[in-house]
This record gives sequence, C-alpha cells and structure tokens, in this order.
Amino acid sequence: MSQNSLRVVWVYPDLLSTYGDQGNVLVLERRARQRRLDVQRLDVRSDQQIPTSGDIYLIGGGEDRPQRLAAERLRRDGGLNRAVANGAIVFSVCAGYQILGHEFINDLGQREQGLGLLDVISTRGEGERCVGDVLGDIDPQLGLPPLTGFENHQGITHLGPTARPFARVRYGKGNGTGDGTEGAFNDTVFGTYMHGPVMARNPHIADLLLKLALDVNALPPVDDRWYEALRNERIAAATQSA
Ligand code: GLN
Repeated sequence: MSQNSLRVVWVYPDLLSTYGDQGNVLVLERRARQRRLDVQRLDVRSDQQIPTSGDIYLIGGGEDRPQRLAAERLRRDGGLNRAVANGAIVFSVCAGYQILGHEFINDLGQREQGLGLLDVISTRGEGERCVGDVLGDIDPQLGLPPLTGFENHQGITHLGPTARPFARVRYGKGNGTGDGTEGAFNDTVFGTYMHGPVMARNPHIADLLLKLALDVNALPPVDDRWYEALRNERIAAATQSA
C-alpha cells in the first residue's frame, strides 16, 4: 500500500459502467472498511488523468462505442500501464477486460489496439451473443469458492501463453472460445466477463484484491450471510437455466 490509506481507482465511470459494475467499487470499499482500513476512492472520468499511485484499479463493462473511446483515452493517457509497472492491481470486467488485452474488434468492425496488460486477444463471435448466468471454478491457485456471474457479450477472448484462465465454466460461455475458460489473469492483472456485479456475488474476489494490496495472507472474517443468499440464488439460476 502506497500511503496509509488504500487508494481505489474507479476508471472511467462515464464510459465503462454497465450492468451495475459500479457495485464492485462499493463492495470493495465496504469490505475494506469492515476491516477498519482507511480507503480513498477516486472516480476518474475519461477527461481526467489516470493517477499512477493507486493500489487497486477497477474497470467495468461498456457498449461498443464507449469501449473504443475508453481504449483510445487509456492508450493516450498511459497511466494505467505505469501503475501496473509500479505493482498496482487491476480488476476489469467485459469491455474493460477486452481493453486490457492486445486488441479487440471495435464498433466500426476494425481491430483496435488494447493496453497489452493481459496476454489476450478479443475477436467478435459469429454466433449468438453470450448471455446468461454463469457458474465456474476459479483457478485453484487463487483459493476462491466457485464463481457466479452474469455474462452479456459478443466478443470472444483468446488467451496467449502468459495469461492463465481466471476460471473454468460449468455453466455458461465465459471467454466464448469453446474451451471452457473464463477470464484471464497474470500476476496482479485480472479480467473477467462476469457482471452481477461480480464482487457482490463473489465477495471473496474483493478480499483477494485487498490481500494482494496489503500483502497479507488473511483478513479478519466479516458477515457473509447476505452475499451467501445471493450466491445460492444465482448459482441455482445458472444450474436451472442450463
Ligand atoms: N462490447 C463488448 C462485447 O459485446 C463488451 C460488452 C460488455 O461490456 N458488456 O463483447
């Protein structure tokens, strides 16, 4: 942690915040405060500079045009790449995930350069959009319970050799390549297709980011009853709609 307070940066809420992804910031802040951590939240709009001194950066999903604008501005800004070079943690969802890769197909049907922070490439799926509840198993290396989320994307993401799949789906499409993978991560940079918001359904992901930021192996437990109720409901929905 860079200062006494944990700095959480919510990247471009004006462009990338579909399907309630802002809930990720709320859950992360709340779980940090429940552990009596001092949290400073910075919402950085797309006409502002990305600070490089953040501890955790969150990026949400977006429609195709805002996704292109966000990618252009993030490339020009360069702050997110510098922050990651300094060891910052990034957690991205859907359009945000695609932007962190090497390239994706933009709203004009052209290949758009990403930030190259994850070794992934996104193309456009030829078939139906991937829409629905997802249930998966997160990479055992991360030590987290099953993943529940909601997906809605046309893009398909292919992992390169240095990206590990974030999860493997039991129900749902995930990266959409048919290999059962969902999302990707490498060191402190994470990407997923899961909305929900994903941290409301999987608060242990928020805890994982906090542990990485604090460089600790465990956090004091907090009451997870409401999260558990939501998890159970959505896991049942994924199982039933399959
Ligand atoms: N535009 C992207 C896609 O459809 C991302 C959509 C989203 O963020 N929900 O693949």
